Amino acid sequence: MYQTFIGLEIHIHLITNSKVFCSCRNEFGAEPNTNICPVCMGYPGVLPSLNAEAVRKSYQVCMALDCTLNETAIFERKNYFYPDMPKNYQISQFAFPFGINGFFDIDLGGGTVKRIRIHDVHLEEDAGKMIHSGGVSFLDYNRAGTPLLEIVTEPDLASGEEAEIFLQQFRQMVRYLGVTDGNMEEGSMRCDANVSINEQGKGLGIKTEVKNLNSSRFVNKALEYEIKRHTKVISAGGTIIQETRLWDEDRNVTRSMRTKESSNDYRYFPEPDLPPYLPDKDFLQEVRESLVELPLARKGRFMSEYALSESSAAFVTGEKEIADFFEKMVQHGVAPQTAARWLSGDVQKQLNLSGESLKASALTPERLSRLLVMVEDGKISRDAAKKVLAAIFTENEEPEKLVKDLGLEQVSNKEDLEKVVSEIVNAHEKVAEAIRNGADKQIGFLMGQVMKATAGKANPKIAQQLIKNNIFKQG
Ligand code: ADP
Ligand code: ZN
Ligand code: MG
Repeated sequence: MYQTFIGLEIHIHLITNSKVFCSCRNEFGAEPNTNICPVCMGYPGVLPSLNAEAVRKSYQVCMALDCTLNETAIFERKNYFYPDMPKNYQISQFAFPFGINGFFDIDLGGGTVKRIRIHDVHLEEDAGKMIHSGGVSFLDYNRAGTPLLEIVTEPDLASGEEAEIFLQQFRQMVRYLGVTDGNMEEGSMRCDANVSINEQGKGLGIKTEVKNLNSSRFVNKALEYEIKRHTKVISAGGTIIQETRLWDEDRNVTRSMRTKESSNDYRYFPEPDLPPYLPDKDFLQEVRESLVELPLARKGRFMSEYALSESSAAFVTGEKEIADFFEKMVQHGVAPQTAARWLSGDVQKQLNLSGESLKASALTPERLSRLLVMVEDGKISRDAAKKVLAAIFTENEEPEKLVKDLGLEQVSNKEDLEKVVSEIVNAHEKVAEAIRNGADKQIGFLMGQVMKATAGKANPKIAQQLIKNNIFKQG
């Protein structure tokens, strides 16, 4: 039996207005080479200046991961030569990054939590993008110099599945913080996966690193492929070559890309154009106070405070937006289970239909709460509420107005309903007789008739009671 060691290097694009060392815009999808300037293009004689918002977001992540913060952080040049890197070096942090020795707890379900140690968190700049087409390579430098935060884990993950869970929950966490959109397909979150195996108790083995992984699912598959490959080689008495490999998504295999360079090859040295960074105590205090409750803690609280099931709590806390929405509904008097059920069911369905985010949609916690209170009070039926919900999305109107416009108000007025019920019972005397003789199920038939007669607007609870009263009073 072999033991498996997996460590991840995760890059997230920070959301900022401008790039990390110049004032070019930091945006995705702009016309190629429109967001560039002498600083990010590495012209001689220019100076970088550090983006305060990128620093702030970096510290938010460091704190969320419980890192020790270096009193002095130092930017260094990582030297390498490649067309996507106009300066021929990347400004990064190496010996003294912003944060070290943190941890992130992953939730494996059923109350099992595994602590993954974080080696460090450091801020760097991204490179440009190469586009290969028809035997020619194009370069787009819009991305060059955009702020990238790298988070390096210790090799504490033990399977592809754990790595996938880590990435999903890590993504959720950084989205909660609002520091990145975490979109792996667009490259705003990227991951390199390192893996080795060794005989039990012998510690780390020789690792390989897999790149080109643009979804957490691929990370899982690539790692499982590598674990099998390592096992085969080592079982046969061979040794693993330390190298970087690429995931081939079409063939479901990894292939060798290059034998791994060591950090010596990068000739790191302190960036002479940027002073050491010493975070200010008040600044750190202010960042700490601005931290939001993180998904794992919030899920636990939702289970205990609102008695939600684990899966329900996991859904509701999946995105901060939904969790906030849910808590506002509870404040507006909606029962927690009801709020969770609507959010995960019909609201989700409507969002899928409209392709909008909850925030951008016409639905607000106030509107949905008032709608559900109407159901609770018997003013409208649950089916009617679904119609109103759909109409809120398309009409952007208040639920009360939509109930009226769509004529969905339930008939709860006893006198009106009594009249309908007695007509129906009279018209179906045989059925009434059967019910008197114990055929309870036939009440459903009479209910159907009442609904038909009222175009579905009878309040079902009241109607059922009135039917029973009528039948047994006559009996
Ligand atoms: P490198 O110098 O090759 O970049 P690092 O020591 O910086 O290696 O580690 C990079 C990543 O690889 C980290 O996430 C770390 O946890 C992981 N890692 C390092 N050594 C091993 C190993 N022997 N097996 C599995 N993962 C490893
Ligand atoms: Zn620039
Ligand atoms: Mg490294």
